[in-house]
Amino acid sequence: MIDRTYSDEITAEQDGETVSIAGHVHEIRDLGGLTFVIVRDREGQTQVVFKEENDEDLFEAVQDLHKEDVVQISGRVKASDQAPGGVELAPTRLEVISESDTPLPMEVAKDVEADLSTRLDNRAIDLRKPENYAIFSLRSKLMSAMEEWFDDEGYVDVDTPLISQEGAEGGAELFPVVYYGDEVFLSQSPQLYKQMLMAAGFDKIYETGTAFRAEAFATSRHVSEIAMFDVELAYIEDHHDVMDVQEESLRYALEQVAENAQDELDVLDVDLDVPTEDFPRITFEEARDILATEFDHVPDDSDDLDTKGEKLLGEYFEEQGHPAFFVVGYPNEKFYYRQDVSGDDIASRKFDLIYKGQELSSGGQREHDIETMEQLMDEQGADPENFKFYLEAFRFGIPPHGGYGLGIDRLVQKVADLENIKEAILFPRDPDRVTP
Ligand code: ATP
Ligand code: MG
Repeated sequence: MIDRTYSDEITAEQDGETVSIAGHVHEIRDLGGLTFVIVRDREGQTQVVFKEENDEDLFEAVQDLHKEDVVQISGRVKASDQAPGGVELAPTRLEVISESDTPLPMEVAKDVEADLSTRLDNRAIDLRKPENYAIFSLRSKLMSAMEEWFDDEGYVDVDTPLISQEGAEGGAELFPVVYYGDEVFLSQSPQLYKQMLMAAGFDKIYETGTAFRAEAFATSRHVSEIAMFDVELAYIEDHHDVMDVQEESLRYALEQVAENAQDELDVLDVDLDVPTEDFPRITFEEARDILATEFDHVPDDSDDLDTKGEKLLGEYFEEQGHPAFFVVGYPNEKFYYRQDVSGDDIASRKFDLIYKGQELSSGGQREHDIETMEQLMDEQGADPENFKFYLEAFRFGIPPHGGYGLGIDRLVQKVADLENIKEAILFPRDPDRVTP
């Protein structure tokens, strides 16, 4: 490894010591016989002061530097109140490891807002911005904390296939792929496989995976390739056990971020709102009532809350100190959700988690009685033939179970307070973008 010290490791106590830093040239400021070079590494920035009177050769060399060159610089640490971070370097050696072309396709150092499309076209440059690194460093810490909670609770980390014959959600949103001459599909959700693992007696599983949705969306919360955090657990009483797991794990992950990612939150200028109280759990009907009475809003689809509805409910609960809440018991849900029938009313044991006015996850208790499920499939026009591999797993004993799928990108979007979900994804995919 190249010997180097990260910018945040250099302190005023090291005054007089020689250190070596490496990184990109963030800024060059020429003040006559004095040139300030700011070197950026992952952890921050270091100011290096080149003085003509100190070393003419070095001073001459620094005149040829470009922004974004990769350099290694050795120098003596100088405590300085004026310097950012309270220290600067008096250089003794400069090596240009890799030269940058000019002009840059977009600015890294200056605060010039490029539009999202330009940023994504030049993502390798765009990601050099400290605030972008902060998003992905935060994301990494958030998901490590999430996995840690499940590891501690005895969940098994699994991987289910991404290529399969049939989707959990059905036709229109599937991406077909040619598989040895036949048409198969990219996975929309690991749902069916998670349930098969409950039949297998795995009890508690999670998966950090990928899902693909061929939706023709144009929103700030949809992408075509999604990072998903999926959970499934068995021997539950009902869907409230599943919500308990979701609530506790999310709270833990957010607490860990508040504790361990303060630097990232500072760079992003985010005041993280960790829900301390129990997440409210309201029924679908209650949600519709609040929308009608408080906001005079009636979602178009009588079986769903629309985007606006979720946003309004988010505001309603946030005002009462609840950034997160569950909506429980959506009507007329898919065949794999367990249904509660009372008279003519059929409420599924399905819930959505809404965080800061946006759906983050869907889940619930699954139907584990094969006859009920086959009847529902029949009513919904789903061909049991297509789900044979799945239904087989139910024929030979399966415990009651439930789970959920959490959109990781949406979670990061909300935690980092980003306008568009694509900012939370390194190289996002949408109907118009498969590159870079
Ligand atoms: P929405 O109604 O918001 O489009 P959905 O109900 O179709 O979402 P689910 O099938 O419930 O989505 O998927 C579980 C979770 O996966 C969602 O709550 C969301 O966080 C995430 N998700 C689903 N589709 C997308 C997408 N196209 N882009 C980003 N995240 C998604
Ligand atoms: Mg959903």
